[in-house]
Amino acid sequence: MPKKQNCFAYKKNGCKALRVKECEGCICPFFKTKGEYKRGKKEVKKRINSYDEPERSYLIDAYYGGKLKV
Ligand code: SF4
Repeated sequence: MPKKQNCFAYKKNGCKALRVKECEGCICPFFKTKGEYKRGKKEVKKRINSYDEPERSYLIDAYYGGKLKV
């Protein structure tokens, strides 16, 4: 069973991804290991890069506040 400390979002003071009082650990539907998080982000970048401009810029602005580097 995965430990909450293995979640990509778990830091010393709790979860950095969600507004929760306490980390729910392995029952949390957003639990991902650091490896899963990195692979997922890589897939997202690959998918976004498959679009032409201006769709690519639209997606980056709409879902990542313009801050995703692809
Ligand atoms: S398991 Fe859920 S609540 Fe805990 S750190 Fe990960 S995302 Fe946050």
